[in-house]
Amino acid sequence: MSLLVQKYGGTSVGSIERIRAVARKVAAERARGHDLVVVVSAMSGETNRLIALAHEIAEHPSPRELDVLVSTGEQVTIALLAMALEEAGCPARSYTGGQIRILTDSAHNKARIEHIEVASIRADLAAGRVVVAAGFQGIDAEGNITTLGRGGSDTTGVALAAALGADECQIYTDVDGVYTTDPRVVEHAQRLDRITFEEMLEMASQGSKVLQIRAVEFAGKYQVPLRVLSSFAEGPGTLITLDDEDDMEKPLVSGIAFNRDEAKLTVLGVPDVPGVAYRILGPISDANIEVDVIVQNVAEDGTTSLTFTVHRNEMKKAQRILESLRTDLGATAIVGDDHIAKLSLVGVGMRSHAGVASRMFGTLADHGINIQMISTSEIKITVVIEEKYLELGVRALHSEFGLDGPLAGTGAPDTARA
Ligand code: ADP
Ligand code: ASP
Ligand code: MG
Repeated sequence: MSLLVQKYGGTSVGSIERIRAVARKVAAERARGHDLVVVVSAMSGETNRLIALAHEIAEHPSPRELDVLVSTGEQVTIALLAMALEEAGCPARSYTGGQIRILTDSAHNKARIEHIEVASIRADLAAGRVVVAAGFQGIDAEGNITTLGRGGSDTTGVALAAALGADECQIYTDVDGVYTTDPRVVEHAQRLDRITFEEMLEMASQGSKVLQIRAVEFAGKYQVPLRVLSSFAEGPGTLITLDDEDDMEKPLVSGIAFNRDEAKLTVLGVPDVPGVAYRILGPISDANIEVDVIVQNVAEDGTTSLTFTVHRNEMKKAQRILESLRTDLGATAIVGDDHIAKLSLVGVGMRSHAGVASRMFGTLADHGINIQMISTSEIKITVVIEEKYLELGVRALHSEFGLDGPLAGTGAPDTARA
């Protein structure tokens, strides 16, 4: 008998019928003798709906009140799932994050889990009950409701699995595993049987939203066995592994991630003296704006230009800060561009092979795609390109690096994306 933590995403609990289907799946697993803690998201579309309501009231809603509001989505699904389980003859109890005491810091809308009290969960399990826990939410030391950032229910699942020492954390979603790239963009994407934590972390941080990045970090740190599966179809899914295989045996590229959420800012014509990057990026970071890719170019006339990317939602704010510094910096212009996209090749195999970057750049050139920025690490190469070429670039690279398989069948109904 094992202890399993299962997390079901928004599409998987998107209607009463689907909640019943989840209840049947959980009850069947319980009947096999396993202990189960089930984490659920809000019904698909609900979190977006609640955020839109808040924005009808205020342009910048209070982060604290936003958490009180959006956490209600998960409170609905835990209650409905617990009822459906009881109807299916499976004893169950639902709990909010605060009731469980999922304790977080006070960073509203992006809180971090600090501690989880597991005594009451263990008591329920010992009494033969399934525990249904609200994803995405916790409470801080003062008892304020907090949320963990979009996609945060994945992190709740992994954190509960770590705290309970579960045998496996199973992330049930609307695709049947982690693919070589988003199967909704490349129809020849292939499901991976296994992917290393290191690669999954890069895929998630470069934009693959199948797992929240925090969840992968957490699972790696606490060595939680993690699997991504479909809630619509049977199958082995994808196991995230602590790799022990020889890197030389690995394919050059395991996956392609992309991200349309960033914008690019360029500060032009600044005198090239020590401290320029600091004077530009210091105030940006002081304003809590995260900077991603950075490139600096030096011209022969002794000036330099600095280009960097930020989240698209923060481009305007960053631009205002730079405009206010412009005279001090001696910059000739500040230019913003939100029609860009980031595309990354990820693979532990590239560590031991040269030439992946040039092959990538050659493929993009053959398709007439201009590269605006480049950034590399041991196991990834990222380029920033014009957004309209993103899908073309992803498909071309997917095929160039031998990732194309037969047509993908994700097991999800066509209507899955509500
Ligand atoms: P959930 O609501 O279950 O948390 P998400 O929408 O957050 O589901 O994540 C699943 C989605 O992630 C898929 O529908 C798919 O479009 C997208 N996705 C992006 N990259 C990948 C990838 N490499 N493999 C699988 N799915 C991916
Ligand atoms: N409901 C939250 C969201 O939409 C959390 C989650 O689904 O993981 O982001
Ligand atoms: Mg998700």
